[in-house]
Amino acid sequence: MNNLLHNSQTKYAGWVTRFAPSPTGFLHLGHVASALYGWQKAQPHGEWFVRLEDIDTQRCKPEFIPAILQDLEWLGLRSARPVLRQSANMPAYQATLARLDTMGVLYPCFCTRSDILRESAAIFSAPHTAPDGSLCYPGTCRHLSDQERQERISQGQLHMLRLNMSKALQWINQCTRGAPLTYQDQERGTVLCHPELFGDVVLARKDIPASYHLCVTHDDAAQGVTLVTRGEDLRPATDLHRVLQALMGWNVPDYSFHPLLCNAEGRRLAKRDGALAVRAMRKAGLSAEDVRCKAGFPHTFER
Ligand code: GLU
Repeated sequence: MNNLLHNSQTKYAGWVTRFAPSPTGFLHLGHVASALYGWQKAQPHGEWFVRLEDIDTQRCKPEFIPAILQDLEWLGLRSARPVLRQSANMPAYQATLARLDTMGVLYPCFCTRSDILRESAAIFSAPHTAPDGSLCYPGTCRHLSDQERQERISQGQLHMLRLNMSKALQWINQCTRGAPLTYQDQERGTVLCHPELFGDVVLARKDIPASYHLCVTHDDAAQGVTLVTRGEDLRPATDLHRVLQALMGWNVPDYSFHPLLCNAEGRRLAKRDGALAVRAMRKAGLSAEDVRCKAGFPHTFER
């Protein structure tokens, strides 16, 4: 099965990498480090481009988009491709969900967060969390009959779509004759995945008919990304992304994870560290090179 083949840089002139921020605020030093990390991996013969992960319309604000692109440009980073906005790519995610549905690996879930907490407390002694810190779903709606699902949907009850993880893994297992899911990490070598620890993850939310895992995996495949560069915090999610790649027959990129920048108190840099926004630093008189240095990439554009 070609979806289990890994990339090898020899197949390409260079790595195709992307920077995929969510426009929830101005570009800050953490973003700069992430953008430059991917940019550097694509040198000298690869391609680096920008994608905007803006499906969450509550958190993402359109006014940050031109600001992010301007700040990147000021830093000397220009996307090699037109910038894709995930919010404009919904039909592609719906088509992916439709295909997964025909494989029988999705089911509607009507639970609220408090239903999940209550049910988890009843089944487990302590709430189970997945390796990414999210709450494991206790499986309540997995057992509903088709008739009950249809009734609740026709009554207008909101639902999300969950991946039936054990069905998905059975399906993959049959296709691979038991070969385990792995990926190539540039720093650690072959990594064995444990997606079963996540349980039945959400692929389409109640408020948005898609999810981060679905969209990021779809787009990396559709856009031909050969090396996914992302922060260490997103390493656990990669195990899940491998499941979607295997189910959909998508190419498997290689991966490289960068450490997260921390603020003076040792906490991960976030939007609230406003002074570390690129535009604030620019206003304060720092040059683009100063900012690149602060992000840990001195002499980035020197050859
Ligand atoms: N959009 C994600 C973020 O802002 C990064 C994309 C990814 O590498 O998964 O953290």
